[in-house]
Amino acid sequence: MADELDEKSLRLFCGQDNWHTLKDPGSGIRSLVLSDGPNGLRIEQETGIGFLPSKEAVCYPAASLIACSFDRDLLKAQGEMLALDCLEEGVDVLLGPGVNHKRSPLCGRNFEYYSEDPILSSELAIAYINGVQAHGIGTSLKHYAANSREKGRLVQDSIVDERTLHELYLRQFERVMKTAEPWSVMAAYNKLNGTHCTENRYLLKDLARDKWGYRGIFVSDWGAVHDPAVSVKNGLNLQMPGGHRGIAVRLKKALAENRITETEVRENLACLKAGLQALHPEEKTEYDLKAHLDFARQAAEKSAVLLKNEDILPLKKTAGIALIGAFAKHPRYQGTGSSRVNAIQVDSVYAAMEAAGYDFTYAEGYHPELDISDLVLVQQALLAAKAADTVIVVAGLPDRYEAEGYDRRDMSMPENQNHLIGELAKVNPNIVVVLQCGAPVEMPWLDQVKGLLYMGLSGCQGGAAAVNLLGGKVNPSGRLAETWPLKLTDTPCYRYFDDDLHMAEYREAIFSGYRYYTSMQVPVCYPFGYGLSYSAFRYDRMDVRQEDDAVMVTVQLTNTGDRPGREIVQIYAGLPESRIVRPRRELKGFAAIDLKPQESGEVSVRIPLTDLAYYDVQKKDWAVEAGTYTFAACASAAEIRLQADMEIAGITDPFSRLAEDYIRYEDGSVAIDRIAFEQLVGHPVPRWHRQDFDVDTTVDDLAVTGLGRRLHRLIRRILKKDKWRHVEGSMVFEAPVRMLFMLSQKVTWDTLDVVLDMFRHGFFRNLHKLRRTLYGGR
Ligand code: BGC
Repeated sequence: MADELDEKSLRLFCGQDNWHTLKDPGSGIRSLVLSDGPNGLRIEQETGIGFLPSKEAVCYPAASLIACSFDRDLLKAQGEMLALDCLEEGVDVLLGPGVNHKRSPLCGRNFEYYSEDPILSSELAIAYINGVQAHGIGTSLKHYAANSREKGRLVQDSIVDERTLHELYLRQFERVMKTAEPWSVMAAYNKLNGTHCTENRYLLKDLARDKWGYRGIFVSDWGAVHDPAVSVKNGLNLQMPGGHRGIAVRLKKALAENRITETEVRENLACLKAGLQALHPEEKTEYDLKAHLDFARQAAEKSAVLLKNEDILPLKKTAGIALIGAFAKHPRYQGTGSSRVNAIQVDSVYAAMEAAGYDFTYAEGYHPELDISDLVLVQQALLAAKAADTVIVVAGLPDRYEAEGYDRRDMSMPENQNHLIGELAKVNPNIVVVLQCGAPVEMPWLDQVKGLLYMGLSGCQGGAAAVNLLGGKVNPSGRLAETWPLKLTDTPCYRYFDDDLHMAEYREAIFSGYRYYTSMQVPVCYPFGYGLSYSAFRYDRMDVRQEDDAVMVTVQLTNTGDRPGREIVQIYAGLPESRIVRPRRELKGFAAIDLKPQESGEVSVRIPLTDLAYYDVQKKDWAVEAGTYTFAACASAAEIRLQADMEIAGITDPFSRLAEDYIRYEDGSVAIDRIAFEQLVGHPVPRWHRQDFDVDTTVDDLAVTGLGRRLHRLIRRILKKDKWRHVEGSMVFEAPVRMLFMLSQKVTWDTLDVVLDMFRHGFFRNLHKLRRTLYGGR
């Protein structure tokens, strides 16, 4: 074997520990420091599993909120701020941004993702990456691909038909990889159509490298590698976390058995080395904490969405206010999991109102840790509300509702909060709700309140932002980056979203998010793109023309309100006479315009013709269908302000396997039936056999054996201990045995083989082998 493939070089395929890559001074490669991401730094002070307290850092608004700004400049600025944070802390790579498609509002990690629209997600991610990378810091675009559920995320197989895959789940990755060249792309935990993303040749090579020309490196999500040699063979460059033994041994074995060729290893290594050498962070300059906190506030101000306003906002007075809700003092401002930041400073609506000189009374109203009402707290809140002119209720989802690692069970808010708002409405009609949550919720009290301001997970300065918006110092301009359905059963994938731990059938196909609601005319609570302002905007004129390889849409509009405001003009396109099944309209571009009262202005949106394309499964490529397209300038996916038709040249024989196979259920939801779905994806939907123990077997699966049941009981007992009480049981029971890597530096792939043998053939019979792999010797 050539020198280059010696043990030391092969070990580079795996990191040094949780957060470092290995160095190789001979090749001029230093050890790089990686950190989560994406909305603030999470630098663990100790290395290990779990969400240990990290170093203090600025927490910016979560992706789900900042996406509502529809503002590329803001995202670029956020990237730059984060890059400065990285420089300050000596971080080389920031693990983000996340562009996964929001398939269901239940996905526990939706707060880390931008949108249900791939064009919006990719435009924002490109801006963010450009901002970070302008300072020599690397990014990691995640989670590639079709990782739209947390349940069983480590073992789940996402079954998606080819057209849907490209149009909704890969399009954002394709656009970002082609345009922004992120330093790395993170291969997701799940399988895609039967193959682990970390060893998926189609994703890593055929598409990314060969078709899209991506030259950065592919890194595994933490613990996502299923077979290290197969991963190297298929194009995964860096396996994380590192620190465990065995990758070189595994690779050498695979080489000896001709399961991988030297050329494959060499090519992969060359690419990895180039990546590890590519980063040159700027010199750090003086860190201005205030500037970063100010930015966090401004970002929240530009992103928050005013959802309802019956002449109650902006607040008319700074007195006579009852502020109610535990979140007013202890805000929910970020999500939980690997993105959780130990915020350096956290403000609140309460503190910000005090600082702004408001005269208000406060009542806690509900206990954030509980779902049941506390009658004393409710009574106190009612007393405060009765005596006030206006009631501001700060409500939302507690931490435990939305987190990485598991999904929400439904779209409900805690019962005690719903009850409280309902009771308050009985004693005071002037209620404004400020919502703090990372995803849509059902609001049974919506008709009883006059104002609703969605602050999302607004980062550590969201309190001041909310008060500036409520008081009118800032005019709201955010627009929803995802649909808010009326109820969970309206969502197109609710029947198939989480019924099987090992598999997710994407049977709603391309009809996801607003593509479904607008096409099937299903009423929603708030449509994608929706948001109010304290100003009003008149759309005066729209002009559509073709310029070379793009359509230029120009819209003139006027601020008819009495205060400066910002409108987000959204351009959608549809092809009503299409020969194939298509969504009624799809977002193709957007632009923001700031206008003073009575001022008119113009925005231009350039839509490359290729963005009008659908994915043709026969041509295995994007194709533009010829026909008369309708371009619509909209204030949301459901509100067309102006529209114009235009003839576009293209192919006249479009092909799509998605045809009349949809079945409509009585409740109006739509999905493809199992048989048609299998025809569509081209193979039977795989069935998981619990007895086939392999490294993807979960702790739950192991419970079919006596030994597995004992393990289950042991883990349940451990989780009851105070230290582990915060860990959601499902995250452990749904974890595959290969996650033992994350828990112990001693465990090698060989140990795993032995552990599985213990379950297959008996514990004691394999005990000596286990000892050998753990401690060496005979
Ligand atoms: C998450 C990644 C994260 C990594 C490191 C994983 O569990 O899925 O998004 O970057 O951990 O913390």
